Amino acid sequence: EAHFSEALGRISASRTTVMTDRAIALRAEGRDIISLSVGEPDFPTPPHVIEAAKAALDAGDTRYTAVPGTAALREAAALHFARDLGIEVPPSQVIVSAGGKQAIFLAITATAGPGDEVLIPAPWWVSYPEIVRFAGAEPVALLTTPQDGYRINADQLAAAITPRTRWLLLNSPGNPTGAVYSAADLAALGEFLRRHPQVLVLSDDIYAPLRYTPGAHATLAVVCPDLADRVLTVSGVSKSHAMTGFRIGVSAGPQWLIGAMAKLQSHASGNPCSISQAAAVAAFTGPQDFLLDWRERFRVRRDAAVAALNAIPGLSTPVPDGAFYCLIDAAPLMGRFGDDEALALHLLDHGVAVVAASAFGGQHGFRISFAADDARLAEALSRIAKALI
Ligand code: PLP
Repeated sequence: EAHFSEALGRISASRTTVMTDRAIALRAEGRDIISLSVGEPDFPTPPHVIEAAKAALDAGDTRYTAVPGTAALREAAALHFARDLGIEVPPSQVIVSAGGKQAIFLAITATAGPGDEVLIPAPWWVSYPEIVRFAGAEPVALLTTPQDGYRINADQLAAAITPRTRWLLLNSPGNPTGAVYSAADLAALGEFLRRHPQVLVLSDDIYAPLRYTPGAHATLAVVCPDLADRVLTVSGVSKSHAMTGFRIGVSAGPQWLIGAMAKLQSHASGNPCSISQAAAVAAFTGPQDFLLDWRERFRVRRDAAVAALNAIPGLSTPVPDGAFYCLIDAAPLMGRFGDDEALALHLLDHGVAVVAASAFGGQHGFRISFAADDARLAEALSRIAKALI
């Protein structure tokens, strides 16, 4: 007889992975399905990273490491935070986890529980509200629209904040929206947050290297340095270095919070994979110039996808400023399909896997990832057009 904990009963399985699994099952039946539902670059992991992983195996790096990560990787991550995000932290204020996902899981479950509220701009990354619910806290949606560039403002914070607000989750560039917060946006949010010292901020900057706007990446810990002692910045190598399978994420924040996350990690997983940690050192300290090429190729695909999608009657999408997703509004088609789940299934029937916007706390639309091979992306876009005629 199955028996589930009360905490597990509060969450549902990730709906992006559900769609991916369905696409895999259809493929196993021999159907040609183009998957635009997964959130990972299609480019191969850079060769110097692969070499570092092999060298780690040969060198016998096959044992437990320190719980918060090896000294080498914490130092390399501190370099990454300084060089790529402008955040100056000592390695002692960095923790390495099994992906950005685990870092967020540790941070929230270590600090929030029943009675706490967590503000989450919606549409959101699927795992945020589930992690919050698992912790026993309450997710509070701050709904954003394409008209406001899918970004929250201080007025929305003011309307939602209560004495029980424990966290605000920020994600820039955002998944699924592609929205990027400017320094001015963050300064305005910071101005408000200064008056509410009970609120911690999780800044999920995992897509920062994949940004198509000019200038430096803006992040709260840098824009408002006086707030840095309550900001946890999450980054990693999964998206920027095509290392999703390595499962390495890095976070920088106040000592007490890093310590709390390490305490939990010491019992949950012990330490992140030793070989992956060695590979991540190479990712952070090795050449970064391939990123220029990847960003440009993603930008070309983005522009092609946005143009093709906006040419389909009933669909509209803003131009995403970062990451590799388009969140497409399909409200005019809801009369025909009923809801966005039905629309996503219709597209799957026509050979393209996408994710319904409702999976992200949005509505009447769907998300595609444009991190797909050029020819396959073009074919997928033409299938979407045919499916919706
Ligand atoms: N944060 C956001 C916004 C994401 O989209 C993802 C991955 O999809 C993650 C964090 C976690 O990445 P990973 O755990 O693969 O490092």
